[in-house]
Amino acid sequence: MNKNDLFDAVDKQKNDLLRMGDYICDNPEIGLKEYKASALLSEYLRQNGYETQLGIGGLDTAFRAEWKNGDGGPSIGLLCEYDALEGIGHGCGHHLQGPAIVGAAIALKNNLPRSMPCRIVVYGTPAEETEGGKIIMLENGCFKDIDLAMMTHASSGATGVDLRTMALSTFSVEYKGQSSHAAIRPECGRSALDALILAFNAIEFMREHVADDVRMHYAITDGGMPPNAVPAHAAAQIIVRSYDRVMLENVIERLMKILDGAALMTETTYTVKRARDIDNSIPVPELNALLMNNAELVNAPKIAPPREKTGSTDFGNVCYCTPGACIRVASDGDHPAPSHSKEAAAQGKSEESHAAIIYASKILAATAYDIVSSPENLDAIRKSFNSMKEKH
Ligand SMILES: [Zn+2]
Repeated sequence: MNKNDLFDAVDKQKNDLLRMGDYICDNPEIGLKEYKASALLSEYLRQNGYETQLGIGGLDTAFRAEWKNGDGGPSIGLLCEYDALEGIGHGCGHHLQGPAIVGAAIALKNNLPRSMPCRIVVYGTPAEETEGGKIIMLENGCFKDIDLAMMTHASSGATGVDLRTMALSTFSVEYKGQSSHAAIRPECGRSALDALILAFNAIEFMREHVADDVRMHYAITDGGMPPNAVPAHAAAQIIVRSYDRVMLENVIERLMKILDGAALMTETTYTVKRARDIDNSIPVPELNALLMNNAELVNAPKIAPPREKTGSTDFGNVCYCTPGACIRVASDGDHPAPSHSKEAAAQGKSEESHAAIIYASKILAATAYDIVSSPENLDAIRKSFNSMKEKH
């Protein structure tokens, strides 16, 4: 067999894959409520010979599907998301991922010869946008059974890979002060809002003394109404990011000192809650290169160099533990729409979106074939991952 057999196998499924993409697009489900999408995708895999389990990793709408080709060989993980954005629909193109992934999985199953033992494991991963479903799945033991993880994502503008993604930590901070009449007895009040504002100012001063890639954002969730009383309560969310989790922990230590200092200065008290952390991905240039070679092979649209500037994703947590990469496939043709917008959601069933499913499916199938057919590829990927991990 060769890669053309895989491409033919994807083309043969085209109608099914596009129909699934349109159905998920027309039935947008937010994180942890993706019952229709997870049932549709896992059922298609089951009907095509995969052993399927729905409701895994502590999440009702997560699934795992496996096909074993003999004994031994590499275990290839193919991950997909299918959650929509509340009030927007599929403005991030997650409806394209499942069809692309299952198309690749079935093309591999129907073509890989017995002489190439391997395991193909498909993971349906809910709630990327809201809960970080992959982090919960990791906590519950998922992804330990794969040697590498691949994904696809829609892209506004270009087909390419991310060089890396950012580690992120979120903190919910609440200050408590003493309320008092703002005009008659201001001296008796201690302002929780003052504490918050001092903390924000200190973050601004810290901004000068952190590495270039550190990002710090904040928003007030409770500003302490009304203004004619000294605010006894104020709350905020603070987010910090960096490409390097180890370095980010140092910034977080300093952030905790800032929160402490603001309380001390204002005679207030505070509580801080840390949400689930997102990790940075470990860059694996060798896997990125295989994906990009196959993107060129199938003539994917608007091929571009790896993206330097990226955000954060729960796929980063998977790629912190296991070598992984995501191929982003241009899906918006000549009418770019910003991701997470209603305009992007409205393009979910366009010709370009349909084409992106087929391109992604072929790229992923061909890259899995590269790994299964040439063990030295996985050796190089592992070596690179291990040495990069030491640096991050
Ligand atoms: Zn997304």
